[in-house]
Amino acid sequence: MGDKHRVIIVGGGAGGLELATKLGNRYGKRGSAQITLIDKSRTHIWKPLLHEVAAGTLDSAEDELEYLAQARWHHFRFRLGKMLGLDRDKKEVLLAPTYNNEGQVIIPERRFPYDTLIIAVGSLSNDFGIKGVDRHCLFLDSTEQAERFQQKLLDSMLYAHTCTKPIEKGQLDVVIVGAGATGVELAAQLHHVTRQLAAYGLDTIDPSQHIKLHIIEAGPRILQALPERISNAALEELHRLGVTVHVNERVIEVTEHGVQTSSGEFIPAHFKVWAAGIKAPEFIKDLAGLESNQINQLVVEPTLQTTRDDSIFALGDCAACPSSEPGRNVPPRAQSAHQQASLMVKNFKRRLLGRKLLNYQYRDYGSLIAMGKYSTVGSLMGNLAGSYFVSGYTARVVYLSLYKMHQAALYGWPRAILISLLHFLRRGVDPQIKLH
Ligand SMILES: Cc1cc2nc3c(=O)[nH]c(=O)nc-3n(C[C@H](O)[C@H](O)[C@H](O)COP(=O)(O)OP(=O)(O)OC[C@H]3O[C@@H](n4cnc5c(N)ncnc54)[C@H](O)[C@@H]3O)c2cc1C
Repeated sequence: MGDKHRVIIVGGGAGGLELATKLGNRYGKRGSAQITLIDKSRTHIWKPLLHEVAAGTLDSAEDELEYLAQARWHHFRFRLGKMLGLDRDKKEVLLAPTYNNEGQVIIPERRFPYDTLIIAVGSLSNDFGIKGVDRHCLFLDSTEQAERFQQKLLDSMLYAHTCTKPIEKGQLDVVIVGAGATGVELAAQLHHVTRQLAAYGLDTIDPSQHIKLHIIEAGPRILQALPERISNAALEELHRLGVTVHVNERVIEVTEHGVQTSSGEFIPAHFKVWAAGIKAPEFIKDLAGLESNQINQLVVEPTLQTTRDDSIFALGDCAACPSSEPGRNVPPRAQSAHQQASLMVKNFKRRLLGRKLLNYQYRDYGSLIAMGKYSTVGSLMGNLAGSYFVSGYTARVVYLSLYKMHQAALYGWPRAILISLLHFLRRGVDPQIKLH
């Protein structure tokens, strides 16, 4: 064990878990390097599914992956813990103690030595310091938060259904701040789910009358990062669903009762969801003298090496990696994390052999927006060879295939196909949404 190259990957998300699996299969299996994955959670859910968990159209228990099992099957070690610091002189990662629900320490503070460190801790919602956001908004940064949202929605619907008083203005209304993919997809999912809940017996609630859905966007149009044609198609669908879209509206305060905008409008809502922009976790800002940007991301070279330390790499949402467009960084997306994990596998081999590392080049294969069960729109090929607008069945199939590719990277295609088949069979016997 002693002189094996020690690789530590912190963060087992879209990028880190694929990387640990690939390096485990390649180097851990042969015993030529020791691969360790550290995550603060015990299980993994692919983050782009979180709005479905929040809406209750996906049961997280069915789709989560157990890190310990994945580690055993793919020849890496999994260590539970939250990274809180780094000692670059000793080349050690510092982990906070882990507590149980009763507040007792179950794992003490620990240090893990590394020869190569890869930081892939993702991102969190950015509240931009706006008053009340932290206290009154719901976020979709983790499975726990998404599950809390689902419980809160269900509880509120049950309460409204059984309460003898009439439903008050705003009591079941939802305001989503941020009209990026997360906000738009969540609005469509919530439209579907609230109708389903009424159909499953909460029939004193008339969703079209009692539940208003709002999206607030500071920019001039929804889905600003995507081509205008997609934005228009999605807006049309939102209008059809009765979602009120406010553009060019900045939120200046969130209170217990609703959202105040800069134009003086107050939108009452029980549910306030914040989905407006991201930042990397606070602890990596100026981590042990590494360079970070204004949203805490670690600044990396195109090789994914941090600018001030060759043996520390960063990838995914927590990395500020220059893109081919001058002055712009690679966007924080699952496809970037996936591609960077694949490049990292190649660069790790080169690093072991003492060869020059390869540069990462972002390839935009397009973006798809799934509006619940109603429709899917998007573009394919992104910045490659022009982009093609797609909608309907083709778009839905491609949208689903993104997750299948993640599953294939983790389990291999035969198991990924088997899991899909099991899902399909379960759909025939389970309710369409989570009812507890
Ligand atoms: C609702 C939603 C929908 C989205 N839809 C899309 C989409 O359709 N297409 C797309 O391309 N992208 C989408 N995204 C963005 C995409 O999910 C992210 O870009 C992607 O997950 C980033 O991958 P990552 O590996 O960098 O981080 P993540 O996948 O976020 O993983 C980070 C991991 O680090 C762990 N971690 C965090 N802090 C610590 C710590 N201190 N110590 C130890 N472990 C830690 C976390 O537990 C987590 O497992 C969506 C995001 C959301 C929230």
